Amino acid sequence: MSARKWQGVGVNTSSLTEPGTVAATADKRVRTLLILGASGDLTGRLLLPGLARLIRSGRAKGLSLVGAGSDPWDDAKWRARIDESFAAAMETSDEQGRRALQEVRDTSTYHHIDVTAGGVLTELVASLEGPVAIYFALPPTVSQLACTAAAPFGLPADTRLVMEKPFGTDRESAHQLNIGLAKLVPEHNIHRVDHFLGKATVFNILGMRFANRILEPVWNNLHIDKVEVIFDEDLALENRARYYDRAGALRDMIQSHLLHVMALLALNAPSTLHERDLRDHIGSVLRASSIDVGVPGSSRRARYTAGSIKGREVPDYTAEPGVDGSLGTETLAEVTVSINNDRWAGVPFILRSGKALGVKRKEALITFKPVNHLPDGFTGMDTPTRLRIGFGPDTLQLDLDVNGPGDMFSLDRATLTAELNATDLLPYGEVLDGVLSGDPTLSVRSDIAEDCWRIVEPVLAAWAANEVPLEEYPAGSQGPQSWETSTLDTPLPGA
Ligand code: NDP
Repeated sequence: MSARKWQGVGVNTSSLTEPGTVAATADKRVRTLLILGASGDLTGRLLLPGLARLIRSGRAKGLSLVGAGSDPWDDAKWRARIDESFAAAMETSDEQGRRALQEVRDTSTYHHIDVTAGGVLTELVASLEGPVAIYFALPPTVSQLACTAAAPFGLPADTRLVMEKPFGTDRESAHQLNIGLAKLVPEHNIHRVDHFLGKATVFNILGMRFANRILEPVWNNLHIDKVEVIFDEDLALENRARYYDRAGALRDMIQSHLLHVMALLALNAPSTLHERDLRDHIGSVLRASSIDVGVPGSSRRARYTAGSIKGREVPDYTAEPGVDGSLGTETLAEVTVSINNDRWAGVPFILRSGKALGVKRKEALITFKPVNHLPDGFTGMDTPTRLRIGFGPDTLQLDLDVNGPGDMFSLDRATLTAELNATDLLPYGEVLDGVLSGDPTLSVRSDIAEDCWRIVEPVLAAWAANEVPLEEYPAGSQGPQSWETSTLDTPLPGA
């Protein structure tokens, strides 16, 4: 066993109650990435391809990759899986990139283990070159069992733990999970993954907001009418019933990802982009946020029925394999969040996400208030100024009323569009980059993970009590007809 410092008994409660006090940087660069759940969907479809781009960019030099799982695989089978997931990056790499990918692949090993058995994880980590990052690409219940099983045996304190969503199933379970993780390693070595926004997108939002004198003075309740954050998918269930049917759109997307986007749109300017400043400001906005379920329409839910999306027939949600229709799982959810502070009082933040919709959309839409007085004599549009921020590819679109060609008194809509900074890394490559370099900026801090559950819990309770009807919409439509929404116009370029 190594001479590294070990942690395994007692709870580092300061990291739970005073998150700002933890050390900002992790101990050193990760040498070994251990993926638990090597045979799973996340590993093959997202993690390994993300890692491949990171390796070929030269940002994972000297990294060893280790796979582990309950399948009785050997190294050859695991390497065949790596080959499949690395293939696209291999094809498009230069010689140097290909060599780097090949080296990681050729030295990668597989371990057939039951991570829920006491001491197994500890023993495996001790046999690897540290610091080790343990990626829990496991069903959430198995991840929890694995952490519980490792606690009495401990882990080196410089180990990074990478936890996937969902982080708990409610505030209390998230809290208990946080306590369990704090027994293993310090908070700054825990990465709760939120891959929805990559680092480039986060900094695109912050750059746009805080580097332009014209935006910040109007970025408040005096000038903004409403803010919408939308993630509409044209994919249906895609064989993910095992996870999704117990989660639904609110838990899957809004509770985590969309609340984070909202926080980035609403936070006050941090003095630096250091993770501590940034995450303190994100936490501050979320602490001020709530959903008043007593207000009619503050939450809506719906489930898709049979339909067709771009010529593809989609069955009724309840007829999808593995779905239990009696659970009443929503495939489309919308909530209206209030941010109870001086800047945002009175401005609705509408968060919406759904599956099997006709138009794919991943954007934030900021609608400004009308002007106080439009001089008599103008005719035509007189529609509100709107700013749209598209995510992946990142774009900015400003809709203005102008005196277009022709009649000088007639207003026309003008649209200014800009493409924003893009990165060659895939979202999971950006996540792994943060993990390997010890930068938790993109990770969700313990207090923030719990607060996101606090915000949505009243909605979950109201839905469980059937206080909000479960509506229906045909797959391929834009949601229930009665849902008035301003999201129904043209998609952003590249969406
Ligand atoms: P899968 O069910 O596809 O894979 C789970 C993996 O865990 C399998 O390799 C499985 O091996 C392994 N496993 C299960 N039990 C044990 C055990 N006791 N010991 C060791 N290995 C075990 O799940 P996903 O890959 O889809 O999801 C993994 C995590 O990622 C989940 O938390 C999910 O919520 C999250 N996630 C997934 C996304 C996705 O698109 N797939 C997107 C975002 C998050 P075996 O097959 O042998 O049981």
